[in-house]
Amino acid sequence: MRRMRRASLVFLLTISLLIWSVGFAQRRTQPLIQKRPRLVLLIVVDQFRYDYLERFGDLFIDNGLRRLLRDGASWTQSNYDHIPTYTAPGHATMMTGAYPAESGIIGNEWLDRASGKRITSVTDDSVKLLGGGPNEPAASPARLLSSTVGDELRLATNDRAKVIGISVKDRSAILPAGRHANAAYWFSTASGNMVSSTYYFNQLPNWVTSFNNSRPADKYFGAKWERLLPAAEYERRAGPDSPAWETVGSGSGDTNAFPHTISGGATTAGRAFYNALDYSPFSNDLLVSFAEQAIVNEQLGKDDDTDVLTVSFSANDYVGHRYGPYSQEMMDVTLRVDRQIATLLDFVQTQVGLSNTVVAFTADHGVAPVPEQAASLGLGGGRIRAADLFGPIRAAISARYNPQGKSPDPSADYLLRYNENGTVRDLLLNSYIYFNYDALRRDGVNVEELSQIVVAAALTVPGIARCFSRTQLLRGAASITDPIERRAGHGFYPARSGDVLVVPEPYKYLAESLTATHGSPYSYDTHVPTIIMGPGVTAGRYFEAATPADIAPTLSALLRITPPSSSTGRVLVEAIKR
Ligand SMILES: [Zn+2]
Repeated sequence: MRRMRRASLVFLLTISLLIWSVGFAQRRTQPLIQKRPRLVLLIVVDQFRYDYLERFGDLFIDNGLRRLLRDGASWTQSNYDHIPTYTAPGHATMMTGAYPAESGIIGNEWLDRASGKRITSVTDDSVKLLGGGPNEPAASPARLLSSTVGDELRLATNDRAKVIGISVKDRSAILPAGRHANAAYWFSTASGNMVSSTYYFNQLPNWVTSFNNSRPADKYFGAKWERLLPAAEYERRAGPDSPAWETVGSGSGDTNAFPHTISGGATTAGRAFYNALDYSPFSNDLLVSFAEQAIVNEQLGKDDDTDVLTVSFSANDYVGHRYGPYSQEMMDVTLRVDRQIATLLDFVQTQVGLSNTVVAFTADHGVAPVPEQAASLGLGGGRIRAADLFGPIRAAISARYNPQGKSPDPSADYLLRYNENGTVRDLLLNSYIYFNYDALRRDGVNVEELSQIVVAAALTVPGIARCFSRTQLLRGAASITDPIERRAGHGFYPARSGDVLVVPEPYKYLAESLTATHGSPYSYDTHVPTIIMGPGVTAGRYFEAATPADIAPTLSALLRITPPSSSTGRVLVEAIKR
C-alpha cells in the first residue's frame, strides 16, 4: 500500500517535471514561432505610380489601399534604380531583390544572340502551354537567373512552403514566383482560360480546370465599363473624358469615352473580346476570383510553413497605355483596383487572418504623361520616331564605311533590323541598338569605333539626352553618382543587352504607336509605392530612400531565411520591430 503510494508519488513528480520542462521549452521558443507569418501576399498593380496614392487617396475605401497605408509601413521615396522601367524587369526585381544586371531580366524581350531571334523574358520552347489555344506559345522562368523569396522559403522548408504566382500577363505571374515555384497562372487571350505550362506540372490542377469550365471571363462579354463615382469628380481631377490624344485602336468596338463597351467589336466571346477584357478593370475582377480559388484549393496559409501568393493586376497598365496617367479612365481603374484589393484582403482575413500574413504592395514601373499632353503644357513632350533616330546614325555609318557611295551600301547591314508585322525595319529593343557581329567580322569593322560613330550620331538627334556604349557599360565605367548612368548599368546584362543604349530627354518618347508609355530613368517612370504590412512591421510613413529591390531582403529578414541569391537591396530596418 505504502509502496504503491510512493510509486504513484514518483509517477506524479515525473509527470509534473515533464509538463514543467515542456512549458519551459515553449516559453523559450513560442515568441519566435508566433512571429512567423503563414502567408506572404505580394500585391502588384502594373503601372501604378506613387502619386496615385496621393491624388486619389481620399476616394479609397477603408479596407483596401487605405488599410495598407494605415496599418502598414509605406515608403514615400521608393524608386526603381534601373532602366528600362518595364514590366518584366520590375517584376523580376521585387522578389529577388536584384537589379536586371543580376536577374538577367533586362526587358520584356531582347535579342537572343545564339538563335538570332527576338525572345520574351519568359519564352521557353521546351515546355507546353496548359489550357491555351492551338499553337499558343508557352512560358517559364528559365531565363530568370536569381532565386526569389519563394524559392528560398521552399529550400528552407524542404519544399513544404507553397509558392504560386497569378496575373493576366505571363511574365508578371512567373517572375515574382520564381524558378522553384509550385505554379504560375496567367490569362490566355486565345482561350479565355487561366493557363500554366508543363514547366510546373503535366496537367492543370482540377480546381483550375473547374474554374475555366465555368467560363468566368465570358460573363463580361458586352459589359459596360462606367465611372464608379459621379462624372463631376472625374472632370475636376482628370479633365475632359476624351481629349485629342486619347486613341482607341480601330476595330476594338470601343470609343475614347465612358461608358466603354467590352466586346472587342465581336459578336461572341473570342480572342478579340479577351483582348479587350485585358484593357478593362473587369480582368482584375477575374484575377481576384482566381486568387480566392487558389487560396482555398491550395490551402495557402493553412499551416506554419509560410506560403507565398503573388497577384499582379495588369489592367491598370493596359488602360494607362491607352489613355495616359491623367485620364478619367486611369482614375477609374485606380479607384476600382482599390476596391479589388479590399476584396482580396478581406478574403485573406477570413481564410488566413491578416495577423498571420505579411502583405507587400508595389508596382513594376510608373508611366509618363502622353507626349502630346506634355507638349501642350509646355513640358517639352514629343515623340522621337525610329526614322528620326536611325536616319542620322545610318548616314554617319555610310560616311565612314562607304565613302565612295557604293550601291548597294556594304555597311547597310551593320545594324540589326527586325521583322515587325511583315516589314523589316529599324527598331530599338529596350532602347538598345544591336550590331550585326557577322557583318562586322566580314568587313573587319572595329566594334569600338562603330560604337563611337553611332553614339556621336545619336547625340545629334533632337530629344536624345544620353547614349551609352556596350564597351562603356562592360568596363563598369558608368558613374554611380550619376543616376542615369547608374540606372543604365543596373539594367545591363552582357549576354543579353545590345550595343548602344539611347536615353531620351524627359517627357520625350522613343515610341510611335502607344498613346502613353514608360521605360525611362525619370521619376514619373521610377517612383512607385512600396508598402509592407504585417507582424513584425511598424506602421507609418517613411521618408528614407527605398526601392522595390528592398522588398525581398526585408521579407527575408522578417521570415528569417537566406535572402535570394542576388539580393542587393537593403533591409528596410526603419520599419522592422526589434
Ligand atoms: Zn506597360
